[in-house]
Amino acid sequence: TIGMIVIDANAHVWAGTSTNGANNKIPGRVGDSPIMGAGAYASNTGGGAAATGDGDIMMRFLPSYRAVLEMEHGSSPATAAQIAMAPIALHYPDFNGALVAVNTTGHHGAYCHGFSWFSYSVASPDDPHVQVVKVPCQ
Ligand code: ASP
Repeated sequence: TIGMIVIDANAHVWAGTSTNGANNKIPGRVGDSPIMGAGAYASNTGGGAAATGDGDIMMRFLPSYRAVLEMEHGSSPATAAQIAMAPIALHYPDFNGALVAVNTTGHHGAYCHGFSWFSYSVASPDDPHVQVVKVPCQ
């Protein structure tokens, strides 16, 4: 999955995903990516979030919605990502997944489970160089 979160010049927040690789191309399968709140979610007051990983598991928890809601209530992006994702691991310790969250001021963070590292890229008008952020997973 490619997930993208954008804050535009009018401070509107957008999030979306593009998926999938060959692995999950089962006829009739929808997956988490196109489901609002599961694969991605955005609000102009909270920020945006996008998820990747075991969609059939993650979609049951709406982690992108939960992360944005947490940011609306004041959590940092990293904390919001953790609050959204950690409960999934309690129910499904073997699941693989990651979630990136960005708040309305452009601060970002991620949480991942089931692999060693998760990387995401950040670009902003303030810094023309794309920054690659590497997060250790749980
Ligand atoms: N979340 C996607 C799905 O389960 C897969 C992925 O992130 O690569 O459809």
